[in-house]
Amino acid sequence: MRLQDKVTLITGAASGIGNATAQRCHAEGALVILTDIEDSAGEAATRALGERARYLHLDVRREADWQRVFQMIEGSYGRLDVLVNNAGIGGMTQTRGPHDPEHLDLASWREVHAVNLDGVALGCKYAIQLMRRHRSGSIVNISSRSGVVGIPAMPAYASSKAAVRNHTKSVALYCAQQGYNIRCNSVHPGAILTPMWDPLLGSGEAREAMIRAIASQVPLQRMGSAEDVAHAVVYLAADESAYVTGAELHIDGGILAGAAAAPPTPRS
Ligand code: NDP
Repeated sequence: MRLQDKVTLITGAASGIGNATAQRCHAEGALVILTDIEDSAGEAATRALGERARYLHLDVRREADWQRVFQMIEGSYGRLDVLVNNAGIGGMTQTRGPHDPEHLDLASWREVHAVNLDGVALGCKYAIQLMRRHRSGSIVNISSRSGVVGIPAMPAYASSKAAVRNHTKSVALYCAQQGYNIRCNSVHPGAILTPMWDPLLGSGEAREAMIRAIASQVPLQRMGSAEDVAHAVVYLAADESAYVTGAELHIDGGILAGAAAAPPTPRS
């Protein structure tokens, strides 16, 4: 019970990594507030958890939504212990594009940043304001391996995730300077098999072949699971990481550990 009675807010919790994180935090004793824009899926995920779980609609792009959700949290619980800024979009299916650096559509670029970056910045803003009152809190921002390296086909996604990586460190240092005892860290998943990948993978045998092809590029030779990421979030949310702030934790099967262009092992 590493998160016993911790009031924990998770964005984008109806699906994938957010849903797995909600389950893991709940299993560790947290009181979990799941939020998303997919209300029926979010409500179903919340019902599956049973007690100590609640669902609220929260579009992370909208400041008024954040204000409403935080008013509710303050009124019901009086505190927030953990915020997981997880909601994010790739942009390839949600926006009209194109996305490549030469032809990018500005509205699509801005939409990806509105969800992935503005959403995180707003979450941090309101979490700090509530957490500071109890001089305690942990904010976990879900960035990506793509926040560290470029993606030619999805530069808005990569740019937004790089900004999340950096904003995490500003928040961490700001809170430390103010003496708030609020920690802020980023998690960098890579190749995690969630619904986010569905439009890219296709279906049937083609999907399985694509998954095998991606896995062959990962040092650990598999795609990750949402649970792999959820375990890392629990660590950063829990008091056992009390001396960790401004850090980045890579959950990517070793993708960022090296480069495909590394020298080959000498033949004997
Ligand atoms: P999913 O698409 O499975 O889940 C994301 C959830 O966030 C969906 O329910 C989605 O709804 C919701 N969402 C979208 N826009 C908003 C919004 N404006 N406000 C609130 N919720 C919203 O994706 P993953 O679980 O894979 O991704 C979770 C996070 O992990 C994202 O930030 C992603 O960038 C990051 N990540 C994922 C990786 C992976 O390989 N899967 C790798 C690196 C990072 P809807 O379905 O309607 O879009």
